[in-house]
Amino acid sequence: MIAPETRAVIDALSAKGTVVRFVGGCVRNTLLARPVADIDLATPDTPEMVTALLEEAGLRAIPTGIKHGTITAVVESRPFEVTTLRRDVETYGRHAKIAFTDDWEADSMRRDFTINAIYCDPDGTLYDPHGGKVDLCAGRVRFVGNARERIAEDVLRLLRFFRFHAWFGSGGADEEALAACREAAPELERLSVERVWCELKKLLAAPDPASDIQLMKENGILKHVLPEIKTVTGQKSPLAALTAIEDELGEPDPLRRLAVLLSDKRAVGVAKTMAARLKLSNTECDRMIALTGDGYDLGGNFVRWRRALYTSGPELFHDRVLLAWATDPQGKETYKKMLAEADGWTPPSLPITGTDVIAMGMEPGEAVGKLLSQLEDWWIAEDFQPTRKDCLAKLRALK
Ligand code: ATP
Ligand code: MG
Repeated sequence: MIAPETRAVIDALSAKGTVVRFVGGCVRNTLLARPVADIDLATPDTPEMVTALLEEAGLRAIPTGIKHGTITAVVESRPFEVTTLRRDVETYGRHAKIAFTDDWEADSMRRDFTINAIYCDPDGTLYDPHGGKVDLCAGRVRFVGNARERIAEDVLRLLRFFRFHAWFGSGGADEEALAACREAAPELERLSVERVWCELKKLLAAPDPASDIQLMKENGILKHVLPEIKTVTGQKSPLAALTAIEDELGEPDPLRRLAVLLSDKRAVGVAKTMAARLKLSNTECDRMIALTGDGYDLGGNFVRWRRALYTSGPELFHDRVLLAWATDPQGKETYKKMLAEADGWTPPSLPITGTDVIAMGMEPGEAVGKLLSQLEDWWIAEDFQPTRKDCLAKLRALK
């Protein structure tokens, strides 16, 4: 059951008889009947040949990672990563020297985990040189080859180990891999923060990341990527509670999960430091600060909730309710009412404008704004009930 766009890429790449194979996430996830994020294809043809074959078939070929042998084919605005088979020639940290090859086994040896080194022919035949399928079914995340060496070649793999364990592992983590991760942990500080953050987000997006974050903490790894996080406490943590809530609502959110890990005293100061250190985007950074800032009032009843909704907007309100719920599971019913209130909420607008104030004889200027904002405070405190007439009367009284 291959989609027409995928078929078009496969047909183009194999037009001259080359065998191309699916590899990586698309094979792994399909075997587990999980959704596929993107499609990676492997081919023994060189990037130049790949480009020519795609163009001959009238498909777009973008040299996204030509140095690493990757061409992105685009069909109906769907991207396909087509990578030439590679073998390692010499490795030094991230700067592994590679050479193109037509040897599928050599290519498989460069891949990180057995579950990521399963290839699949277009007819569905698997090529699985490291027993990835058995590992996948058993929930085992194992490095291809020697864990220590593979991490030394590329320390990002250390983080990928926890990401894939969180998504596909069951039971304890591979001891050899864990030991290698512990040893190499200080090397994580050499990675660019952008790569670290990108990887952490994928880990945090896992169905239940709390145990793996706990595992990173216990093994002295977390402090090298998220030194700001002091306590995690695995399945008993607010993170685990938040994940369960998000699961119930069907809305996993890595940034919110990171925020809950900071939900202790002075979180906003720590959040600011962390956001700057990890070079979060402006949007992410603002949201992180809003999520961890103190003084957000969710107490009281509908009147106070509507006030919070009006002042912070429904998105932040929703986030703050989920965060509060995660640390106070007993309050579930109340939090659900809050969420329902936010869902059905349309922002009211103050029935008075500056024009009305000026019409009352006030000179245009700063004072008009001040008066309006005083009026707005009163209108909010009155639960947005005052009509235009009430507001005009109040204005006269305030003037
Ligand atoms: P996703 O579902 O997130 O796309 P994926 O396994 O396809 O998961 P990609 O980052 O798209 O992940 O990488 C595609 C494949 O390339 C991986 O499955 C793996 O075989 C290989 N790979 C990616 N990054 C590395 C790495 N740092 N070291 C070794 N192999 C890697
Ligand atoms: Mg992929």
